[in-house]
Amino acid sequence: MVRLTRRGALRGAVLLGGAAALLGGTDAAFAAVEQPSIASCGAWGARPPAGALTVVQHKPNKIVVHHTALANSNDFSQAHAFADSREIQDLHMDGNGWVDSGQHFTNSRGGWLTEGRHGSLYALLHSQTMVQGAHCVGQNDQAIGIENEGTYLTEQPPAAQWNSLVAFCAFTCRQYGIPATEIYGHKDFNNTQCPGLLHDRLPELRSAVAARL
Ligand SMILES: [Zn+2]
Repeated sequence: MVRLTRRGALRGAVLLGGAAALLGGTDAAFAAVEQPSIASCGAWGARPPAGALTVVQHKPNKIVVHHTALANSNDFSQAHAFADSREIQDLHMDGNGWVDSGQHFTNSRGGWLTEGRHGSLYALLHSQTMVQGAHCVGQNDQAIGIENEGTYLTEQPPAAQWNSLVAFCAFTCRQYGIPATEIYGHKDFNNTQCPGLLHDRLPELRSAVAARL
């Protein structure tokens, strides 16, 4: 399920109407990548960062897909997605001693997208900079990190989560001018099993994103 903000849906409708009336549909490719709803740190009750965050003054050149390696909850509600975002932030700050959540964004099993590290959503919407993350050694000032709730070593993600991952990647690629071919998994760069079976589906993910771009 792709959830659109009311403003995003309205803008899409206006753009489509304008394109049909004035441009004969030549802006159809642009209009095709809708902005998915992404809940900000404020919306899910994030703690403030423990120190200064670094804003990198260039665009990211890739997306790195992760799984959280936490439980595969069957609670697909937004309230659960928000609780999961808080749990990850607590683990990263209190367990790892990081300044904030390591990933830029989180995708719940119910398909709810949330901001991870503070400032990531602002940067994405303005499409010129990125916040330095802590999700993939060697790629933290190059790659947008998206954490998918769950463990996918033997089990596939729910359809809602897959669909929101596609929507998120398509929007992020469009915002930053990242080619759909530049979507990777954590294990492509570090010695890890992450993101499990999602790594096997990267060709499918790239194709689905390319079709939207
Ligand atoms: Zn990972």
